[in-house]
Amino acid sequence: MARRAFIAGNWKMNSTAEEGVTLTNELLSLIEDVADVDVVLAPPFTSLDRIGNIIKDNPVRLSAQNFFMEPEGAYTGEISAAMLLGVGCVHVIIGHSERRQLFGETDETINKKTAVALNTGLKPIVCVGEVLEEREAGKALEIVTGQVRKALLDINSEDMGKVVVAYEPVWAIGTGKTATPDDAQEVHRAIRDLLVELYNRKIADSVRIIYGGSVKPDNVDSLMAMADIDGALVGGASLKAESFARLVNFQPLD
Ligand code: PEP
Repeated sequence: MARRAFIAGNWKMNSTAEEGVTLTNELLSLIEDVADVDVVLAPPFTSLDRIGNIIKDNPVRLSAQNFFMEPEGAYTGEISAAMLLGVGCVHVIIGHSERRQLFGETDETINKKTAVALNTGLKPIVCVGEVLEEREAGKALEIVTGQVRKALLDINSEDMGKVVVAYEPVWAIGTGKTATPDDAQEVHRAIRDLLVELYNRKIADSVRIIYGGSVKPDNVDSLMAMADIDGALVGGASLKAESFARLVNFQPLD
């Protein structure tokens, strides 16, 4: 089944609002002719409103990098899902490994956030991935499928159609090391097989499973040639308009 490619740029804690505007305008001029790809930008909270305004008449869609699961109240410093929706976010990244490792997010909070995002009308990009020791111990598939199972607990079939799963091996994020296309494909395939078990073949075949971890212009084409790799979640290479535009314009190798 042909799935529409999904290329998302996660800017992390980079760029002021002004810098973000410049980057977005540069990018838009480079991807004017792109069709058949969902292009998503995830700038910091402080840039969402301005970038949302720039892209509102454009197919590029806005994502947040995180949110807090309570609807409102005394949670100083936090941002709710409804607030993100209010500034034009369509997607939200949930459970990025940096949130798991640096901010104590667990499979349980990730599951709760996934449910809250869906109930609020945001489409979650749910991140999973093994650390190096787990890969070296031959446990990557077990760890990743376990994370997916827990993140999607009680998420129904209809809502599952709105979820994008991002496989991001933690050892490949920001390190310059990429999983080989075959290794990534093996994990993506295992995630899709799990979705067949949890839902059904039709849903499993329709969910986009994207890869993240040092995706760059020189490796995107071989990754995108894999049967179950439907896109990329990109950190470093999304901070330069030329490199991100090249990723959006990927050409899968035969
Ligand atoms: C990420 O931030 O999700 C990521 C994959 O980063 P990088 O592309 O820099 O490895």
